[in-house]
Amino acid sequence: MSAFRNFKLVSHVVFGRGCFDQLDEILSVRRQASDDFVVFLLDEVHLDRPLAKRIPLHGDDLLLPVNVDDEPKTTYVDRLTERVRQFAGRLPAGVVGIGGGATMDLAKAVSLMLTNPGSAADYQGWDLIRQPAVYHAGIPTLAGTGAEVSRTTVLTGPEKKLGINSDHTVFDQIVLDPDLLAGVPTDQWFYTGMDCYIHCVESLQGTFLNAFSRAYGEQAMALCRQVFLEDGPNGDEKLMMASYCGGMSIAYSQVGVCHALSYGLSFVLGLHHGIGNCVAFDYLEEFYPESVAEFRRMMQRHEVNLPRGLTANLPPEKLEKMVDVALVLAPLWENALGPDWREKMPRERIRELYRRM
Ligand code: NAD
Ligand code: ZN
Repeated sequence: MSAFRNFKLVSHVVFGRGCFDQLDEILSVRRQASDDFVVFLLDEVHLDRPLAKRIPLHGDDLLLPVNVDDEPKTTYVDRLTERVRQFAGRLPAGVVGIGGGATMDLAKAVSLMLTNPGSAADYQGWDLIRQPAVYHAGIPTLAGTGAEVSRTTVLTGPEKKLGINSDHTVFDQIVLDPDLLAGVPTDQWFYTGMDCYIHCVESLQGTFLNAFSRAYGEQAMALCRQVFLEDGPNGDEKLMMASYCGGMSIAYSQVGVCHALSYGLSFVLGLHHGIGNCVAFDYLEEFYPESVAEFRRMMQRHEVNLPRGLTANLPPEKLEKMVDVALVLAPLWENALGPDWREKMPRERIRELYRRM
Protein backbone atom coordinates (compact mmCIF):
# COMPACT_ATOMS: atom_id res chain seq x y z
CA MET A 1 0.00 0.00 0.00
CA SER A 2 1.16 3.51 -0.73
CA ALA A 3 2.37 5.54 2.19
CA PHE A 4 -0.14 8.35 1.66
CA ARG A 5 -3.81 8.00 1.03
CA ASN A 6 -4.88 9.58 -2.25
CA PHE A 7 -8.45 10.06 -1.26
CA LYS A 8 -11.41 10.94 -3.35
CA LEU A 9 -13.58 13.92 -2.48
CA VAL A 10 -17.20 14.70 -3.20
CA SER A 11 -17.01 16.60 -6.49
CA HIS A 12 -19.95 18.98 -6.02
CA VAL A 13 -21.21 20.63 -2.86
CA VAL A 14 -24.04 23.10 -2.50
CA PHE A 15 -24.61 24.69 0.92
CA GLY A 16 -27.15 27.09 2.37
CA ARG A 17 -30.66 27.42 3.75
CA GLY A 18 -33.10 26.59 0.98
CA CYS A 19 -30.52 25.17 -1.43
CA PHE A 20 -32.61 21.98 -1.69
CA ASP A 21 -34.64 23.92 -4.26
CA GLN A 22 -31.66 23.78 -6.60
CA LEU A 23 -31.87 19.99 -6.81
CA ASP A 24 -33.94 19.96 -10.00
CA GLU A 25 -31.43 22.18 -11.77
CA ILE A 26 -28.54 20.05 -10.50
CA LEU A 27 -30.14 16.82 -11.70
CA SER A 28 -31.17 18.26 -15.06
CA VAL A 29 -27.54 17.90 -16.16
CA ARG A 30 -27.84 14.14 -15.58
CA ARG A 31 -31.07 13.80 -17.51
CA GLN A 32 -29.52 13.55 -20.97
CA ALA A 33 -31.89 11.23 -22.84
CA SER A 34 -35.66 11.61 -22.82
CA ASP A 35 -36.09 8.32 -20.97
CA ASP A 36 -33.47 9.02 -18.30
CA PHE A 37 -34.86 8.60 -14.83
CA VAL A 38 -33.70 9.32 -11.29
CA VAL A 39 -34.27 7.19 -8.19
CA PHE A 40 -34.95 9.04 -4.94
CA LEU A 41 -34.44 7.09 -1.74
CA LEU A 42 -36.39 9.03 0.86
CA ASP A 43 -36.33 8.31 4.59
CA GLU A 44 -39.99 7.47 5.13
CA VAL A 45 -40.10 9.82 8.14
CA HIS A 46 -40.42 12.57 5.52
CA LEU A 47 -43.25 10.97 3.53
CA ASP A 48 -46.00 13.06 5.05
CA ARG A 49 -43.86 16.14 5.57
CA PRO A 50 -43.51 19.14 3.26
CA LEU A 51 -40.09 17.94 2.07
CA ALA A 52 -41.64 15.01 0.19
CA LYS A 53 -43.64 17.42 -1.96
CA ARG A 54 -40.55 19.44 -2.80
CA ILE A 55 -38.72 16.50 -4.42
CA PRO A 56 -38.31 17.38 -8.09
CA LEU A 57 -39.91 14.23 -9.54
CA HIS A 58 -40.12 13.90 -13.31
CA GLY A 59 -42.35 11.52 -15.24
CA ASP A 60 -40.26 8.33 -15.17
CA ASP A 61 -38.59 8.87 -11.79
CA LEU A 62 -38.86 6.37 -8.97
CA LEU A 63 -39.54 7.52 -5.42
CA LEU A 64 -38.50 4.75 -3.04
CA PRO A 65 -39.38 5.38 0.61
CA VAL A 66 -36.86 3.60 2.84
CA ASN A 67 -37.26 2.38 6.37
CA VAL A 68 -34.33 2.89 8.73
CA ASP A 69 -35.79 1.38 11.91
CA ASP A 70 -32.92 -1.07 11.53
CA GLU A 71 -29.52 0.11 10.37
CA PRO A 72 -28.94 -0.75 6.69
CA LYS A 73 -28.49 -4.44 6.04
CA THR A 74 -26.86 -5.96 2.98
CA THR A 75 -30.10 -7.91 2.34
CA TYR A 76 -32.09 -4.67 2.28
CA VAL A 77 -29.60 -3.12 -0.15
CA ASP A 78 -29.94 -6.17 -2.39
CA ARG A 79 -33.75 -5.91 -2.34
CA LEU A 80 -33.74 -2.19 -3.11
CA THR A 81 -31.22 -2.70 -5.92
CA GLU A 82 -33.44 -5.39 -7.43
CA ARG A 83 -36.44 -3.04 -7.21
CA VAL A 84 -34.55 -0.41 -9.17
CA ARG A 85 -33.35 -2.97 -11.74
CA GLN A 86 -36.88 -4.28 -12.26
CA PHE A 87 -38.40 -0.83 -12.41
CA ALA A 88 -37.22 0.14 -15.89
CA GLY A 89 -34.92 -2.64 -17.03
CA ARG A 90 -32.12 -0.12 -17.41
CA LEU A 91 -29.86 1.87 -15.16
CA PRO A 92 -31.09 5.14 -13.68
CA ALA A 93 -29.28 8.38 -14.47
CA GLY A 94 -28.87 8.97 -10.76
CA VAL A 95 -29.62 7.77 -7.25
CA VAL A 96 -30.41 10.41 -4.62
CA GLY A 97 -30.54 9.66 -0.89
CA ILE A 98 -32.54 12.06 1.32
CA GLY A 99 -32.39 11.39 5.06
CA GLY A 100 -29.94 10.65 7.84
CA GLY A 101 -26.76 8.60 7.63
CA ALA A 102 -28.70 5.40 7.13
CA THR A 103 -30.59 6.67 4.09
CA MET A 104 -27.48 8.23 2.59
CA ASP A 105 -25.66 4.93 3.06
CA LEU A 106 -28.50 3.04 1.37
CA ALA A 107 -28.29 5.40 -1.60
CA LYS A 108 -24.53 4.92 -1.84
CA ALA A 109 -24.87 1.15 -1.62
CA VAL A 110 -27.66 0.90 -4.20
CA SER A 111 -25.72 3.09 -6.64
CA LEU A 112 -22.73 0.74 -6.25
CA MET A 113 -24.68 -2.50 -6.49
CA LEU A 114 -26.47 -1.42 -9.68
CA THR A 115 -23.16 -1.72 -11.52
CA ASN A 116 -21.38 -4.44 -9.51
CA PRO A 117 -22.56 -8.07 -9.61
CA GLY A 118 -23.53 -10.17 -6.59
CA SER A 119 -24.63 -9.15 -3.11
CA ALA A 120 -23.62 -6.06 -1.15
CA ALA A 121 -22.21 -8.50 1.43
CA ASP A 122 -19.52 -9.52 -1.12
CA TYR A 123 -18.07 -6.01 -0.98
CA GLN A 124 -17.92 -5.34 2.76
CA GLY A 125 -14.31 -4.42 3.27
CA TRP A 126 -11.75 -2.14 1.71
CA ASP A 127 -11.53 -1.46 -2.03
CA LEU A 128 -13.39 -4.53 -3.26
CA ILE A 129 -15.62 -2.58 -5.65
CA ARG A 130 -14.45 -2.78 -9.27
CA GLN A 131 -16.99 -0.85 -11.33
CA PRO A 132 -17.85 2.83 -10.86
CA ALA A 133 -21.27 3.42 -9.32
CA VAL A 134 -24.25 5.11 -10.91
CA TYR A 135 -24.13 8.90 -10.28
CA HIS A 136 -25.27 9.42 -6.70
CA ALA A 137 -26.17 12.40 -4.55
CA GLY A 138 -26.64 12.71 -0.78
CA ILE A 139 -28.93 15.12 1.04
CA PRO A 140 -28.65 14.95 4.84
CA THR A 141 -31.69 15.69 6.99
CA LEU A 142 -29.77 14.82 10.17
CA ALA A 143 -26.23 16.03 10.88
CA GLY A 144 -23.27 14.32 12.46
CA THR A 145 -22.32 11.07 10.78
CA GLY A 146 -20.19 12.61 8.05
CA ALA A 147 -21.68 10.01 5.69
CA GLU A 148 -22.10 12.88 3.24
CA VAL A 149 -18.34 13.06 2.69
CA SER A 150 -17.07 9.60 3.57
CA ARG A 151 -15.84 6.84 1.26
CA THR A 152 -17.90 4.20 3.01
CA THR A 153 -21.42 2.90 3.30
CA VAL A 154 -21.79 1.10 6.59
CA LEU A 155 -23.74 -2.15 6.26
CA THR A 156 -24.71 -5.03 8.50
CA GLY A 157 -24.12 -8.28 6.68
CA PRO A 158 -24.63 -11.91 7.64
CA GLU A 159 -21.20 -12.06 9.30
CA LYS A 160 -20.21 -8.56 10.25
CA LYS A 161 -20.99 -4.90 10.36
CA LEU A 162 -18.51 -3.37 7.98
CA GLY A 163 -18.61 -0.69 5.33
CA ILE A 164 -18.15 -0.93 1.60
CA ASN A 165 -15.10 1.31 1.57
CA SER A 166 -14.09 2.49 -1.87
CA ASP A 167 -13.46 5.60 -3.94
CA HIS A 168 -16.58 4.73 -5.92
CA THR A 169 -18.67 5.00 -2.75
CA VAL A 170 -18.10 8.77 -2.46
CA PHE A 171 -21.06 10.93 -3.48
CA ASP A 172 -20.83 12.89 -6.74
CA GLN A 173 -22.96 15.62 -5.23
CA ILE A 174 -24.13 16.66 -1.80
CA VAL A 175 -26.81 19.18 -0.94
CA LEU A 176 -26.27 20.70 2.51
CA ASP A 177 -29.42 22.59 3.41
CA PRO A 178 -29.59 23.38 7.16
CA ASP A 179 -33.37 23.94 6.84
CA LEU A 180 -33.77 20.18 6.41
CA LEU A 181 -32.64 19.54 10.00
CA ALA A 182 -35.85 21.04 11.37
CA GLY A 183 -38.03 18.63 13.30
CA VAL A 184 -35.36 16.19 14.45
CA PRO A 185 -36.26 14.98 17.97
CA THR A 186 -33.77 16.21 20.60
CA ASP A 187 -32.43 12.79 21.55
CA GLN A 188 -31.76 11.86 17.92
CA TRP A 189 -30.21 15.28 17.25
CA PHE A 190 -27.91 14.72 20.21
CA TYR A 191 -26.89 11.13 19.39
CA THR A 192 -26.07 11.91 15.77
CA GLY A 193 -24.36 15.15 16.79
CA MET A 194 -22.24 13.19 19.26
CA ASP A 195 -21.20 10.90 16.42
CA CYS A 196 -19.49 13.97 14.99
CA TYR A 197 -18.03 15.00 18.34
CA ILE A 198 -16.62 11.49 18.81
CA HIS A 199 -15.20 11.47 15.27
CA CYS A 200 -13.25 14.58 16.27
CA VAL A 201 -12.06 13.13 19.58
CA GLU A 202 -10.91 9.90 17.98
CA SER A 203 -9.25 11.62 15.06
CA LEU A 204 -7.52 14.31 17.15
CA GLN A 205 -6.31 11.83 19.77
CA GLY A 206 -5.34 9.06 17.36
CA THR A 207 -1.87 8.00 16.25
CA PHE A 208 -2.76 8.62 12.57
CA LEU A 209 -3.22 12.35 13.22
CA ASN A 210 -1.65 14.75 10.74
CA ALA A 211 -2.03 18.45 9.93
CA PHE A 212 -4.82 17.77 7.43
CA SER A 213 -6.96 15.83 9.88
CA ARG A 214 -6.15 18.21 12.69
CA ALA A 215 -7.29 21.25 10.70
CA TYR A 216 -10.70 19.77 9.99
CA GLY A 217 -10.98 18.02 13.36
CA GLU A 218 -10.29 21.17 15.38
CA GLN A 219 -12.77 23.16 13.34
CA ALA A 220 -15.45 20.49 13.74
CA MET A 221 -14.72 20.23 17.46
CA ALA A 222 -15.03 24.01 17.91
CA LEU A 223 -18.38 23.96 16.10
CA CYS A 224 -19.61 21.03 18.22
CA ARG A 225 -18.75 22.95 21.38
CA GLN A 226 -20.70 25.97 20.14
CA VAL A 227 -23.69 23.80 19.26
CA PHE A 228 -23.77 21.60 22.34
CA LEU A 229 -22.35 23.86 25.07
CA GLU A 230 -23.49 27.36 24.06
CA ASP A 231 -26.75 29.01 23.05
CA GLY A 232 -25.47 30.88 20.00
CA PRO A 233 -27.33 31.34 16.72
CA ASN A 234 -27.22 29.23 13.54
CA GLY A 235 -26.91 25.90 15.30
CA ASP A 236 -28.14 23.96 12.27
CA GLU A 237 -25.61 25.55 9.94
CA LYS A 238 -22.85 24.90 12.46
CA LEU A 239 -23.79 21.29 13.03
CA MET A 240 -24.03 20.62 9.32
CA MET A 241 -20.53 22.03 8.80
CA ALA A 242 -19.23 20.22 11.88
CA SER A 243 -20.46 16.95 10.39
CA TYR A 244 -18.75 17.73 7.09
CA CYS A 245 -15.47 18.76 8.72
CA GLY A 246 -15.56 15.81 11.12
CA GLY A 247 -15.99 13.50 8.13
CA MET A 248 -13.08 15.20 6.36
CA SER A 249 -10.94 14.81 9.46
CA ILE A 250 -11.45 11.05 9.75
CA ALA A 251 -11.08 10.64 5.99
CA TYR A 252 -7.40 11.30 6.46
CA SER A 253 -7.01 9.66 9.84
CA GLN A 254 -9.39 7.14 11.43
CA VAL A 255 -11.85 6.71 14.25
CA GLY A 256 -10.93 4.77 17.38
CA VAL A 257 -11.93 2.73 20.42
CA CYS A 258 -15.47 4.07 20.71
CA HIS A 259 -16.38 3.27 17.11
CA ALA A 260 -14.87 -0.20 17.27
CA LEU A 261 -16.96 -0.99 20.36
CA SER A 262 -20.06 0.69 18.95
CA TYR A 263 -19.98 -1.59 15.89
CA GLY A 264 -20.14 -4.64 18.15
CA LEU A 265 -23.04 -3.13 20.13
CA SER A 266 -25.03 -2.50 17.02
CA PHE A 267 -24.28 -5.86 15.39
CA VAL A 268 -25.40 -7.87 18.40
CA LEU A 269 -27.97 -5.59 20.06
CA GLY A 270 -29.21 -3.69 17.00
CA LEU A 271 -28.27 -0.43 18.73
CA HIS A 272 -28.03 2.45 16.25
CA HIS A 273 -24.68 4.05 15.53
CA GLY A 274 -25.22 7.39 17.30
CA ILE A 275 -26.67 6.02 20.50
CA GLY A 276 -24.23 3.09 20.44
CA ASN A 277 -21.35 5.55 20.31
CA CYS A 278 -22.76 7.48 23.25
CA VAL A 279 -23.24 4.30 25.29
CA ALA A 280 -19.66 3.18 24.62
CA PHE A 281 -18.05 6.60 24.98
CA ASP A 282 -19.42 7.04 28.49
CA TYR A 283 -17.16 4.14 29.58
CA LEU A 284 -13.98 5.27 27.84
CA GLU A 285 -12.49 7.58 30.45
CA GLU A 286 -9.28 5.56 30.52
CA PHE A 287 -8.72 6.40 26.82
CA TYR A 288 -10.23 9.86 26.38
CA PRO A 289 -10.55 11.34 29.92
CA GLU A 290 -11.15 15.03 29.19
CA SER A 291 -13.42 14.37 26.26
CA VAL A 292 -15.60 11.94 28.19
CA ALA A 293 -16.00 14.60 30.90
CA GLU A 294 -16.97 17.17 28.26
CA PHE A 295 -19.37 14.72 26.64
CA ARG A 296 -21.09 14.25 30.00
CA ARG A 297 -21.49 18.03 30.34
CA MET A 298 -23.12 18.11 26.92
CA MET A 299 -25.39 15.25 27.86
CA GLN A 300 -26.41 16.98 31.09
CA ARG A 301 -27.07 20.27 29.36
CA HIS A 302 -29.48 18.63 26.94
CA GLU A 303 -30.99 16.30 29.53
CA VAL A 304 -30.22 13.21 27.53
CA ASN A 305 -30.26 9.87 29.32
CA LEU A 306 -28.53 6.77 28.05
CA PRO A 307 -29.71 3.19 28.38
CA ARG A 308 -27.69 1.16 30.89
CA GLY A 309 -27.14 -2.46 31.74
CA LEU A 310 -27.36 -3.51 28.11
CA THR A 311 -25.02 -6.47 28.38
CA ALA A 312 -26.02 -7.63 31.86
CA ASN A 313 -28.14 -10.54 30.68
CA LEU A 314 -26.37 -11.22 27.43
CA PRO A 315 -25.56 -14.91 26.78
CA PRO A 316 -21.76 -15.50 26.66
CA GLU A 317 -21.75 -16.43 22.95
CA LYS A 318 -23.36 -13.09 22.09
CA LEU A 319 -20.78 -11.24 24.15
CA GLU A 320 -18.05 -13.13 22.28
CA LYS A 321 -19.63 -12.19 18.95
CA MET A 322 -19.56 -8.56 20.06
CA VAL A 323 -15.85 -8.87 20.77
CA ASP A 324 -15.30 -10.54 17.37
CA VAL A 325 -17.07 -7.73 15.52
CA ALA A 326 -15.02 -5.10 17.36
CA LEU A 327 -11.77 -6.94 16.64
CA VAL A 328 -12.38 -6.96 12.87
CA LEU A 329 -11.79 -3.20 12.90
CA ALA A 330 -8.01 -3.32 12.98
CA PRO A 331 -7.37 0.15 11.53
CA LEU A 332 -9.51 1.74 14.25
CA TRP A 333 -7.58 0.02 17.03
CA GLU A 334 -4.29 0.83 15.41
CA ASN A 335 -5.22 4.49 15.16
CA ALA A 336 -6.27 4.59 18.80
CA LEU A 337 -3.50 2.52 20.37
CA GLY A 338 -0.65 2.23 17.89
CA PRO A 339 0.80 -0.67 15.88
CA ASP A 340 1.05 -2.94 18.95
CA TRP A 341 -2.67 -2.55 19.70
CA ARG A 342 -3.23 -6.31 19.84
CA GLU A 343 -1.09 -6.57 22.96
CA LYS A 344 -2.76 -3.56 24.52
CA MET A 345 -6.25 -4.70 23.68
CA PRO A 346 -6.62 -8.45 24.18
CA ARG A 347 -10.09 -10.03 23.93
CA GLU A 348 -10.48 -9.95 27.73
CA ARG A 349 -10.09 -6.19 27.88
CA ILE A 350 -12.70 -5.63 25.18
CA ARG A 351 -15.03 -8.10 26.90
CA GLU A 352 -14.55 -6.27 30.18
CA LEU A 353 -15.42 -2.93 28.59
CA TYR A 354 -18.59 -4.42 27.09
CA ARG A 355 -19.55 -5.96 30.44
CA ARG A 356 -19.68 -2.48 31.99
CA MET A 357 -22.21 -1.29 29.42
P1 NAD B 1 -30.45 7.54 10.87
O1 NAD B 1 -30.28 7.84 9.44
O2 NAD B 1 -30.41 6.13 11.31
O3 NAD B 1 -31.82 8.18 11.37
C1 NAD B 1 -32.16 8.14 12.74
C2 NAD B 1 -33.62 8.50 12.91
O4 NAD B 1 -33.86 9.87 12.62
C3 NAD B 1 -34.53 7.70 11.97
O5 NAD B 1 -35.67 7.31 12.66
C4 NAD B 1 -34.86 8.72 10.89
O6 NAD B 1 -36.09 8.42 10.28
C5 NAD B 1 -34.91 9.99 11.67
N1 NAD B 1 -34.72 11.24 10.92
C6 NAD B 1 -33.82 11.53 9.95
N2 NAD B 1 -33.96 12.80 9.55
C7 NAD B 1 -34.95 13.35 10.29
C8 NAD B 1 -35.57 14.65 10.34
N3 NAD B 1 -35.13 15.67 9.59
N4 NAD B 1 -36.58 14.82 11.21
C9 NAD B 1 -36.99 13.80 12.02
N5 NAD B 1 -36.47 12.59 12.01
C10 NAD B 1 -35.45 12.36 11.15
O7 NAD B 1 -29.44 8.34 11.80
P2 NAD B 1 -27.96 8.90 11.62
O8 NAD B 1 -27.42 9.00 12.98
O9 NAD B 1 -27.91 10.09 10.75
O10 NAD B 1 -27.22 7.76 10.83
C11 NAD B 1 -26.81 6.57 11.43
C12 NAD B 1 -26.45 5.64 10.31
O11 NAD B 1 -25.37 6.18 9.58
C13 NAD B 1 -26.02 4.27 10.78
O12 NAD B 1 -26.59 3.31 9.93
C14 NAD B 1 -24.52 4.30 10.66
O13 NAD B 1 -23.96 3.05 10.44
C15 NAD B 1 -24.34 5.21 9.48
N6 NAD B 1 -23.07 5.92 9.46
C16 NAD B 1 -22.43 6.00 8.29
C17 NAD B 1 -21.23 6.66 8.17
C18 NAD B 1 -20.53 6.74 6.86
O14 NAD B 1 -19.46 7.30 6.79
N7 NAD B 1 -21.07 6.20 5.80
C19 NAD B 1 -20.67 7.27 9.29
C20 NAD B 1 -21.34 7.18 10.50
C21 NAD B 1 -22.55 6.52 10.56
ZN1 ZN C 1 -19.44 7.54 13.51
